[in-house]
Amino acid sequence: MFYFFNIFVISLYVGFVFYCAKKYAAHFEKKLETQLSDRQNILKKAQEEKDLHYQEKIRFEQEAIQIFMLYDITREITKSVNEKEAFDIFRKKLEGHVRFKTCRFLKSHVDDIKQLKPSEDSYVFALQEKKKLLGYLVLEGVSDPDKEKVMILGNQFALVLRRVLLYEEIERVAITDSLTEIHTRRYVIERFQEEMKRSQARHMKLSFLMIDVDLFKEINDTHGHLTGDQVLREIGKIIKENTREIDIPARYGGEEFCIVLPDTDYLGAQYVAERIRKAVQEKMMKIYDTTINVTISVGVSNYPKDSEKMNDLIDKADFALYRAKKYGRNRVLCFAELSVDKE
Ligand code: GH3
Ligand code: MG
Ligand code: MG
Repeated sequence: MFYFFNIFVISLYVGFVFYCAKKYAAHFEKKLETQLSDRQNILKKAQEEKDLHYQEKIRFEQEAIQIFMLYDITREITKSVNEKEAFDIFRKKLEGHVRFKTCRFLKSHVDDIKQLKPSEDSYVFALQEKKKLLGYLVLEGVSDPDKEKVMILGNQFALVLRRVLLYEEIERVAITDSLTEIHTRRYVIERFQEEMKRSQARHMKLSFLMIDVDLFKEINDTHGHLTGDQVLREIGKIIKENTREIDIPARYGGEEFCIVLPDTDYLGAQYVAERIRKAVQEKMMKIYDTTINVTISVGVSNYPKDSEKMNDLIDKADFALYRAKKYGRNRVLCFAELSVDKE
């Protein structure tokens, strides 16, 4: 009996130990599972962060490429102060980054773009600087993803274009007389020298006109300086209207004008001078509330007949002008005609 009791107690003890061991094992297993799942979550998060960083890295790399590309293209095109040159460099640079068949630059307004009739394949990009339309880029055969690059680079080109236009405007203002809107004396002297060299090299004739408004002091005294200014403006206009593209008219100073006439002999120069003189004489200048009539006197000199030097030609035209004044004003005199009484 005691023996059976012992067996029972031992079995009970073994069962209890076994039960406890199983319980502990289950608990340990669960703990391990939780730990494993935690680690897996951490790993997943780390993986996601790694992916994110990788994407960021790619994005930064692309941005860096774009910034370098922009820097490179801007540095190259800003070297240019000329529209055509700037576009040529721009197109070359574009070829390195974008695939396209043709790329044109239209310096135009809305009407011209209608006339252009872009094909379905065309991509037209308006070049704008703030609200000002500077022209269009028209590209054929550019893919959709590349259009964004064209936009970015196109905007850089628009900036350069604006700078070129400003530069041209500054240059124009520097060589243009603000009152009469024709060239300044400094400009005409520079061009005169160039034209002299050209005429000598090509054995061409060249004439020079010196023009002075008759009795201009009286106009100022009678009507005031503001009216006098308007008269000078009108004369500037008449001179411009009566000269060719290749001629170089300028305000020489005060109420004096001059014109360099390339490839023009004495006869031609006399003809032009007479035409301008008549046009001024016949012009009824309506200025403020008065109508004014003025006349001009003109002195003419010629290369090679009178001299081979620019300063001599200026002096001789001036001398002829002085004589025209002396002989009664409102007339054209050529230096060569004064040969008898030059003293
Ligand atoms: P002449 O027929 O001999 O040339 O007589 P003139 O009165 O034209 O000659 P003068 O040299 O005595 O006078 C020129 C005048 O032109 C004097 C000057 O005040 C005036 N003048 C010069 N520049 C300007 C200008 O920019 N505006 C105005 N309103 N007058 C000017
Ligand atoms: Mg004068
Ligand atoms: Mg005068």
